[in-house]
Amino acid sequence: MRYLVLTDIHANLEALQTCLADAVARGYDNTLVLGDIVGYGADPNAVIERVRGLAPTAIIRGNHDKVALGIEQAECFNAVARNAAEWMLEALTPDNRQWLVDLVKGPREVDDLVQICHGSPTDEDEYLFDQFAAAQALQATARPLCLFGHTHCAITYRMRNGACDTIPGSANTEAVLTLQPNVKYLVNPGSVGQPRDGDPRAGYGIVDTEARRVWLFRLEYDIEGAQRKILAAGLPEALARRLAAGR
Ligand code: ZN
Repeated sequence: MRYLVLTDIHANLEALQTCLADAVARGYDNTLVLGDIVGYGADPNAVIERVRGLAPTAIIRGNHDKVALGIEQAECFNAVARNAAEWMLEALTPDNRQWLVDLVKGPREVDDLVQICHGSPTDEDEYLFDQFAAAQALQATARPLCLFGHTHCAITYRMRNGACDTIPGSANTEAVLTLQPNVKYLVNPGSVGQPRDGDPRAGYGIVDTEARRVWLFRLEYDIEGAQRKILAAGLPEALARRLAAGR
């Protein structure tokens, strides 16, 4: 089985379309979506419709998707994110808003090899930014490979013989990981629609469960087109600027 792995799309249609075209060319069977389909970007409805069209095998909500439950979900957002959340609630069609409301909370076990979560396997809102937090998360994972998002930074953490280390996943155009026996992995493929690891290219992953391999890809996309839409929608300018910076 080859899974296309998408996380933190954040209503960025240009980035999503680029990733999907690339994934189709490489070939995949099913799709996994790790949350934050919307928020920040100017195309929540079009992005939801593309994701719905993929009929993902497994999909979980992210903190920005939870805003569909009500604006109080954006309580701990900063001013820019909250402004974008308010804009999104106005923009969503009732049907797409309900679809977001119905998304389930992670983690979810996909098969014998793969588990997905948004923040961490124990807390959907946790940011896994360091090895200490990753080591704790790796102890809680229910499968050898746990895929996560939320930080918008491509990275791989690995637990071998009780010790945790990292394998950077974003420095190259293509990072390939072969899963070893008796090792647990925690992999963030990077954000499709709002990368924050200093590389503004859209990130996504493919997992091949038979070959036990994970590929992390970074792709140039029409950043200016996405920025123009953000500005035309009256969303905060900072959201347009950060796309080009990858921060
Ligand atoms: Zn996010």
